[in-house]
Amino acid sequence: MQNLKQQYPEIYAAIRDETRRQTETLEMIASENFVSLPVLEALGSVMTNKYAEGYPRHRYYGGCEHVDVVEGKARFNVKKLFNAKYANVQPHSGSQANMAAYLTLAKPGDTIMGMHLNHGGHLTHGSPVNFSGRLFNVVAYTISPDTGRIDYDEMAKLAREHKPRFIVSGASAYPRIIEFDRIKEICDDVGCYHIADIAHIAGLVATGLHPDPLPYTDIVTSTTHKTLRGPRGGLILTNVEGGELMLPNMPKPKTMPEAIDAWVFPGCQGGPLMHVIAAKAVAFIEARKPEFKEYQQQVIKNAAVLAETLLAEDFKLVTGGTDNHLILMDLAPRGLTGRASERALENAGITTNKNMVPNDPQKPFITSGIRLGTPALTTRGMKEDEMRRIGKMISYVLSDLEDEERQKKTRSEVEELCKRFKFYEIPPE
Ligand SMILES: *Cc1c(COP(=O)(O)O)cnc(C)c1O
Repeated sequence: MQNLKQQYPEIYAAIRDETRRQTETLEMIASENFVSLPVLEALGSVMTNKYAEGYPRHRYYGGCEHVDVVEGKARFNVKKLFNAKYANVQPHSGSQANMAAYLTLAKPGDTIMGMHLNHGGHLTHGSPVNFSGRLFNVVAYTISPDTGRIDYDEMAKLAREHKPRFIVSGASAYPRIIEFDRIKEICDDVGCYHIADIAHIAGLVATGLHPDPLPYTDIVTSTTHKTLRGPRGGLILTNVEGGELMLPNMPKPKTMPEAIDAWVFPGCQGGPLMHVIAAKAVAFIEARKPEFKEYQQQVIKNAAVLAETLLAEDFKLVTGGTDNHLILMDLAPRGLTGRASERALENAGITTNKNMVPNDPQKPFITSGIRLGTPALTTRGMKEDEMRRIGKMISYVLSDLEDEERQKKTRSEVEELCKRFKFYEIPPE
């Protein structure tokens, strides 16, 4: 980064400081991860200069022979990874993937069903401040306040009552297996489509550690930067191939892949981000290696051990534990808020985020919960022993939020731990 350092020292310094923050603190935000150096190199390449509207071998610009190679590799490898017949790797983000998927299957004004934001759903699953809540008439399904698990019976009842165009499954803060087969039955019962948004669990799905949604859905969307450990971006998959369908918003019958392609470009986006697609290609190849499955197994083991440790320290966890990469702590019984806990942990060098819990007495900006994830720490090589230690550190800090000495002491323990798990090199001063 010589040029950046000499010519734009303030930007350089911010990047250096961010690298230091990522390496010297414990990154426990469940939606974050650390990409490999080959992924970073592809991201920082001249591919960013190229306009490539259209799809490989059908572009609106000349000079696309090399970007076609990377998009071809990205599509090929992601299809192999998920056993999918069709893939679109152009969505700029998970939200853009959802927008294209929704418009493929529904018209503005149609009724759709998604998980309530305060119950673990994502903004794009129908929040009133998001395009999904503004364009569509949203019916939100929820989790049972007693068990913290998705209330499939309520979902079935709501679907029969409101007859949505589709149900979107998937979540941002749900620690248990999602039963895609059961949701498919509900969709079949009322004759609606099923979209699974696997943004959080894509890495687990790809390695067979979470049930596969593809056999039970019309469209699968995902991000590429969470458990999948690629660059920031989105993707769309489907196995609904043959036969032309009369889909809404399409003047003529189309196949599902044709309609999805048309809704990504030109429907929702212009030129694809070819540097990101090159980095996606690298990440998808990495994800097909046996080491990636071992990594995902360790992510789950680490979350299970962290959950066990927190339970032993007398904390309440939503659903009583976890099946996947994340944990939702319910701090209401301890009389703590998510916001104050997040701050105290951050002072101690542990990065988390506040989160709503079932029956949360606090407002969404305060909350009573904390969401913890293991993907990023597992990428650094941390295992069960470190998780036990971190669980105890979290307990120690949360036992007295006002005690700044505790936070300081924990912070130096965190730094010492991080030194043993070096990864990115910190750019020089
Ligand atoms: C993170 C997430 C997204 C959106 O991702 P962005 O890339 O931030 O737009 C969509 N759906 C779910 C369930 C998510 O968790």
